[in-house]
Amino acid sequence: MTVEEHRPLSPRRKSRPVHVGDVQVGGDAPVVVQTMTNTDTADAQSTLNQIAQLADNGAEIVRLAVPDKAAAAALPEIVRATTAPLIADIHFDYRLALASIKAGIHGLRLNPGNIRDADKVREVVRAAQERRISIRIGVNEGSLPPIPTLAEDELPPPKPRRMVDAALWEISILEEMGFEDIKISLKAFDVPAMVTAYREIAQRVPYPLHLGVTEAGLPGAGSVRSAVGIGLLLAEGIGDTIRVSLAADPAEELPVAWNILSSLNIRQRGATIVACPTCGRIEVDLIPLANQIEAHFQKLGKPITVAVMGCVVNGPGESRDADIGLAAGKGKGAIFRKGEVVRIVPEDQFLPALIEEGQRVIAEKFPDESGPSPADDQDAIIPMTAVQQGSRPGRTARR
Ligand code: SF4
Repeated sequence: MTVEEHRPLSPRRKSRPVHVGDVQVGGDAPVVVQTMTNTDTADAQSTLNQIAQLADNGAEIVRLAVPDKAAAAALPEIVRATTAPLIADIHFDYRLALASIKAGIHGLRLNPGNIRDADKVREVVRAAQERRISIRIGVNEGSLPPIPTLAEDELPPPKPRRMVDAALWEISILEEMGFEDIKISLKAFDVPAMVTAYREIAQRVPYPLHLGVTEAGLPGAGSVRSAVGIGLLLAEGIGDTIRVSLAADPAEELPVAWNILSSLNIRQRGATIVACPTCGRIEVDLIPLANQIEAHFQKLGKPITVAVMGCVVNGPGESRDADIGLAAGKGKGAIFRKGEVVRIVPEDQFLPALIEEGQRVIAEKFPDESGPSPADDQDAIIPMTAVQQGSRPGRTARR
């Protein structure tokens, strides 16, 4: 295969579209980013505040736990005021699913590992059918159905087989009732097991797949683990919605999810920052500057690429594809566009000059969308000298 013929991503698997509120998942919809609240759902106002924050940070669907009657009782108020479509996460008690549907929830997640009574599942499906809401069959390696009694010489089935079988059991109940607004997830901490399970279910059923590595860990290792598992499948064309699960504030999951999508050129949200890793040639304090540049351009929300390079040796060349960039040297630096130098600026003007030039790029690329002008955003313009002294006046943009 020649370089020209090489295709890094397989064509996307065709799945049957379903909806969660007004968000389509599967079919020809883009891969949807979602996350989950970690507030006490019974506390409606805190939950609504977090939903708004998560939606603001790029969550297109938000899931919330409904572990008891108090949580279910808060749902009508939450559903009335939510800023994102909501999925109720149900374990064990099918009556909480019924209460969630009655409250107007936009989607359900059921775990086939812990509601094992087909009649109870059917009751939930009937209610979902009436309200036309979708159901995710959410298999988790930590709560699989028990293994049937084995013969003495029989080995237990491997984990991916058990995960696929658990999903197929519940799918069969839903399909017997003519219910097809189904999504499937087969989450595991073990990335090879999770990838194997998703690959198989992708061939067995037409439903959209929700990808995730469960309990992936703290943000550093968990982001890598999620990116490997989710990224492998997305590169194979498998996956219609993703959730990165980190032991962190759920808002931290969203930039990771979006970075997975943008790394594969699947979707981009806000600016992409190209930053050099720094090396012995560097003569400026680049990392705080790169953080400020990222905060500023992320806040503008426009999908441009901004490069922040630590020297003029490789800067413009290494970031030739960037819409705009800075090659920072001692005392002065070059601002460039698509690898061409457009200005030389003194060190204390690195950030304001890049922001100003960035506004021009945005105005040219998105002429119909008016964004804030640099003058509107003076508190984000921090002199480089202040950065180098460790002072960070002004607000830090949320990502
Ligand atoms: S851009 Fe310059 S400073 Fe940055 S890593 Fe490359 S050579 Fe080093």
